[in-house]
Amino acid sequence: MGAIERVLITKEELNKQVKEMASRISKDYEGKELVIIGVLKGGFIFLADLAREITIPVDLDFMSVSSYGNSSKSSGVVKIIKDVDTNIDGKHVLIVEDIVDTGLTLNHLVELLKTRGPLSVKICAALDKPSRRKVDVQVDYKGIEIPDEFVVGYGLDYCGKYRNIPEVCILKKDVYLK
Ligand code: 5GP
Repeated sequence: MGAIERVLITKEELNKQVKEMASRISKDYEGKELVIIGVLKGGFIFLADLAREITIPVDLDFMSVSSYGNSSKSSGVVKIIKDVDTNIDGKHVLIVEDIVDTGLTLNHLVELLKTRGPLSVKICAALDKPSRRKVDVQVDYKGIEIPDEFVVGYGLDYCGKYRNIPEVCILKKDVYLK
């Protein structure tokens, strides 16, 4: 695709990361009642890969949140567009997200879900951009660390596009500086 500057993380690297995380999650939650909550839209591809590598029974649900609008900079405003349908009272919750950037979205989601009586709320994220963190959020299953670059692919978009690229890529700057 012409808008792509270069591939940052290949399919093979993502696949390896997913398998390692799924194996840890399967061990840690063995015999426990786990609800996995995928954060839409960005987390959908990672969750689809991760869920199929998890070897224990889990409930799957989704939340849809928006923090970026149509720009490549975080607004800090987290809007819940779709909430979960599952009752998480007395269950363990694992939030599955595409990337932790400022941490504002996950911080907000953890605090919200904790008010609903779960036994625990943990976080699993495919990518981590620690240099941009604004709030200290504990990521229990931390994915691949990336530099301060705006990335697309593997579920991540720019203006709704490029989510379907199978690798994590750096977008050409002129695409979003236009
Ligand atoms: P945070 O609240 O941690 O700043 O980030 C929340 C959301 O911003 C992420 O779930 C993701 O959807 C989006 N985001 C953060 N960094 C990037 C990036 O480099 N590329 C894209 N496409 N989205 C990002």
